[in-house]
Amino acid sequence: NSFAEIDLGKAVNDNIKRCKYVKPTPIQRHAIPIAMAGRDLMACAQTGSGKTAAFCFPIISGIMRGKSTPPAWGRGPRIASPVALILSPTRELSCQASSVDLNKLWILSFFGLDFGVINWVLWIHDEAKKFAYQTGVKVVVAYGGAPISQQFRNLENGVDILVATPGRLVDMIERSRVSLRMIKYLALDEADRMLDMGFEPQIRRIVEQMEMPPTGARQTMLFSATFPTEIQRLASDFLSDYIFLAV
Ligand code: AMP
Repeated sequence: NSFAEIDLGKAVNDNIKRCKYVKPTPIQRHAIPIAMAGRDLMACAQTGSGKTAAFCFPIISGIMRGKSTPPAWGRGPRIASPVALILSPTRELSCQASSVDLNKLWILSFFGLDFGVINWVLWIHDEAKKFAYQTGVKVVVAYGGAPISQQFRNLENGVDILVATPGRLVDMIERSRVSLRMIKYLALDEADRMLDMGFEPQIRRIVEQMEMPPTGARQTMLFSATFPTEIQRLASDFLSDYIFLAV
């Protein structure tokens, strides 16, 4: 019932305190121990439930534990080889659309700042960076609609966790700038929304790149607000011996 009971490591616990999270939300209370035990997970979770932390904490903690092994770069030069991938849709979130989760933005707009819309994948990236602060774990974001050259430069500085939209990531793979051979952790965030946007072929192509990881089994976590048959099919194709969570 408290974060301290879960062995996430000191650096992550310090960041939890810095974020002023007093106790885990229901999804965190259940998902984090399952993920820390190395199990695959399919979770029913809405925006605002605290799901971002639920998959970020175990990934960051796991990377810190195995930090000596994964190299920052693949075989060839300038091929970024992250160990964790968070796939997320591009989505414009409006302040009015959500109440609790975007309270920070609401406060900013209250003071007259124009934060009417934010990009969902950037929001995830910001959260992940806060959680990875002073852990040595590098988080980089890649998404469409922004110059790819800057994103390549960010990747060149090293990447452990890549937060990406499916379309932009496929583009980077095709240009041989990202390799997914070293991926040990895969989180699919808002999976139903990514399918609604027509990204299933890209998602499948991306996951195909990860087959047979040299570093042992891959851990996959799938988060979705709804569970139509297409999501269930993704789960049975991508997850192994998974635990289903609905909170
Ligand atoms: P999410 O559902 O991941 O978009 O998170 C919704 C909001 O809740 C974000 O602003 C988080 O920073 C915040 N949050 C996540 N976990 C906790 C927690 N355990 N206690 C308080 N706030 C949290």
